[in-house]
Amino acid sequence: MRYISTRGAAPTLDFADAMLAGLARDGGLYVPESWPTMGADEIAALAGRDYAEIAYRVTRPFVGDAIGEADYRAIVERTYAAFDHAAVAPLKALAPNHWVMELFHGPTLAFKDYAMQLLGNLFNHVLGARGERVTIVGATSGDTGSAAIEACRGRDAIDIFILYPNGRVSEVQRRQMTCVDAANVHAIAIDGTFDDCQALLKALFNDGAFRDEVALSGVNSINWARILGQIVYYFAAAAALGCWQRQIAFAVPTGNFGNIYAGYVARRMGLPISHLVLATNANDILSRLLATGTMKRGAVHPSLSPSMDIQVASNFERFLFDLMERDGPRVAQQMAGFQDTGELPLSGDALDQARAVFTGFRLDDDGTIEEISRCFQATGELLDPHSAIGVAGGAAHRGDPAVPMVSLATAHPAKFPEAVERATGATPQLPPHLSDLMTQPERFEVLPNDLAAVQGFVRAHLAAGAPA
Ligand SMILES: *Cc1c(COP(=O)(O)O)cnc(C)c1O
Repeated sequence: MRYISTRGAAPTLDFADAMLAGLARDGGLYVPESWPTMGADEIAALAGRDYAEIAYRVTRPFVGDAIGEADYRAIVERTYAAFDHAAVAPLKALAPNHWVMELFHGPTLAFKDYAMQLLGNLFNHVLGARGERVTIVGATSGDTGSAAIEACRGRDAIDIFILYPNGRVSEVQRRQMTCVDAANVHAIAIDGTFDDCQALLKALFNDGAFRDEVALSGVNSINWARILGQIVYYFAAAAALGCWQRQIAFAVPTGNFGNIYAGYVARRMGLPISHLVLATNANDILSRLLATGTMKRGAVHPSLSPSMDIQVASNFERFLFDLMERDGPRVAQQMAGFQDTGELPLSGDALDQARAVFTGFRLDDDGTIEEISRCFQATGELLDPHSAIGVAGGAAHRGDPAVPMVSLATAHPAKFPEAVERATGATPQLPPHLSDLMTQPERFEVLPNDLAAVQGFVRAHLAAGAPA
């Protein structure tokens, strides 16, 4: 399988090189040259298999010759053995034919572990085989950072630097990044918003000389391998609910458009998804796009669901690439226009295509608290604020009630205990492996929203033996 850039002006790469590159050199994102497909019989054959086996079968075509079959199988098995629920991604019934899929049984209690743990093992394998090392830099609105750190901590071939918006992540999220005792891990609090962090990250990658100097690599949701690891649970849910001939729907708490884009990929691969509910908090640039036909940048509003507090959803470019019939130069032009004006209007035809897949939904903080309370009273399930937005979105846009609706629960309630307590009076407990988190010493650096300051810090903290 070969990977091409959404902007059409970067080299075509195989899976391993696209993964190590992160962002493409023309500023675009890597996507597979074509979509592999799975027939109804192949999807039916996933039923009753364990999660690692489903992951292997669904993702194998995307890896191609870059990693041998036995090695890849071992990587996938090792990855999901580290999760703390036997089903890895268990489904629970909330209401007739409305399910919640719990994607918080990995080491950092958010759905990002499902792809990031795979990515850590893939990086380790590929770098080890090549005798190379990399500097990973990531930007996080909360959960990506800790998931990336858990996936990379203590690995010889990797130094990892994570930028997060100072004061805008929850205490549990921050401590999961700052209480890590590993010399190759560096948490950086930027005086700014998540979008500022993301802009710094892009600027680091767009500085070709710096990029080569430190062998820069990225694990943000712009990395194709992240999307890859997220496709799996859409198939796992469909297999568990018997949906290979009949349809299934999903509701996805959305920020950077990575998770829901993986659902779109599953649909392109042949999974019979009727629609994907794109559920946002008050930072609703994408639900407004579906309502109005124009993507219009606004200010970021801090919310109870900080991992969705963004206005520029990087992964949308991948979907735009398909909407523009895979015309890279046209995507580059549209993205440049968005950069300049803060607006990206879709043609009527493109908007119709987007609406045929995605249904927009928005829930503000008051609605989120109400939903956490309602769900707890009705079912006993404690939802974190992100998951609550997905559950409310799934309930609001069921469509045909005979079609199963699966709302994705993207974080464990104990990651956001204040909101959960406020809504329900119940205090969610951290699982045993994190029970001493709140008393561990923290280690982090505060830096201004300034490219040169970040570059200087990275240079100064590369481990001995890193590229000079
Ligand atoms: C990252 C995150 C999201 C948003 O996912 P995207 O892929 O960025 O759309 C939602 N909920 C939680 C808990 C997250 O960590």
